[in-house]
Amino acid sequence: MNDSKSLHSKIAKTVRNIPRSGIRDFFEIVSTREDVISLGIGEPDFSTPWHIRDAAVRALDRGATSYTSNLGMLSLRRGIAQYVEKKTGIGYRPADEVLLTVGVSEGLDLAIRALVEPGDEVIYHEPSYVSYNPLIQFAHGVPVAIQTRKENGFRLTRAELEQYATPKSKVLLLNYPNNPTGAILSKKDVEEIAAFAIERDLIVLTDEIYDELTYDRAHFSIISVPGMKERTIYLHGFSKAWAMTGWRMGFTCAPPELTDAMMKIHQYTMLCAPILSQEASIEALKNAETDIAYMKGEYKKRRNFIHASFEEMGIPCIRPEGAFYAFADVSKFGMTSKEFALKLLDEQNVACVPGTAFGPCGEGFIRCSYATSLEEIKEAMVRIARFIAKL
Ligand code: PLP
Repeated sequence: MNDSKSLHSKIAKTVRNIPRSGIRDFFEIVSTREDVISLGIGEPDFSTPWHIRDAAVRALDRGATSYTSNLGMLSLRRGIAQYVEKKTGIGYRPADEVLLTVGVSEGLDLAIRALVEPGDEVIYHEPSYVSYNPLIQFAHGVPVAIQTRKENGFRLTRAELEQYATPKSKVLLLNYPNNPTGAILSKKDVEEIAAFAIERDLIVLTDEIYDELTYDRAHFSIISVPGMKERTIYLHGFSKAWAMTGWRMGFTCAPPELTDAMMKIHQYTMLCAPILSQEASIEALKNAETDIAYMKGEYKKRRNFIHASFEEMGIPCIRPEGAFYAFADVSKFGMTSKEFALKLLDEQNVACVPGTAFGPCGEGFIRCSYATSLEEIKEAMVRIARFIAKL
């Protein structure tokens, strides 16, 4: 009984059959090497602004070490409702429509588990953030991935939705600004998707964790379309724009019935988000506009540089309009994404993520994060140019 083979057979089949994240696997290889320039990590190279850290220190000094209400501290839920209304024009009631979660990661899990029954189809677009497909499967739902295309700027279109939706489709999961492509949608794109969701009676989950990080035009949220608040779970969090990945703070905004359903799972699995992270987030919402503007300005310079460098090298790459990733098309070099990434790491000590970590249609692409310093990015691009010159 205690040999590892028989233990393996005891693991739930859904869990057993899901592969580990391609990003993690790749970075295990990276961690065995020295002097690597990493364009792989999806987290800001900035530390959380000092005044936000200070708010947590002060709360700790006051002895804030307890549980909070399951939904989270009311003052923070109020701040979130105000923030979301300012961004989208849509008001949520702090009392029963806002839930604080342990990162957007937990919010996604709650939303999917609250809605999906075995066999329900969840439509999402690929290439996508790595957790979507596994979370749907953990809930025994059926993941239906629409493969978006470079030629179309990796936008999801109504025509594609029509092709993939069936009577079993229950949920549509959106992520714009997008990880890993950097794509965003126009207002018209969003309105067309919204009209489709209403016609087909779909519940929409919209992961807008990168909403602050757009560089040429503002992001337009699907909740701003009339009739959508009623059928949408809006997911957002502090990890990216506020440089707070380690605090694990996210939130959902949704109609009371859906919030209550997610709350039930949250209550029994997580109880509440950590109190010090909630205290820090109150400060983050109040006083971080200048910090966000500064970090965004830095990302924009890096975005411009990395995009121009790929163009100069003759490597096609859509101009990323949001998040902090460039998704470059290296298919012409006749290698798989993984081969390209491994060889680049091996020969030039530059790490980027193979596009296939984000779904099969990522084949031929590499994701390069520009949440790293401009100096490092400049050196990485010199090395990539040297690498391809030899191919
Ligand atoms: N959603 C997207 C699109 C992401 O890129 C990430 C992290 O990279 C997450 C969710 C998870 O974020 P969090 O740190 O809030 O759990």
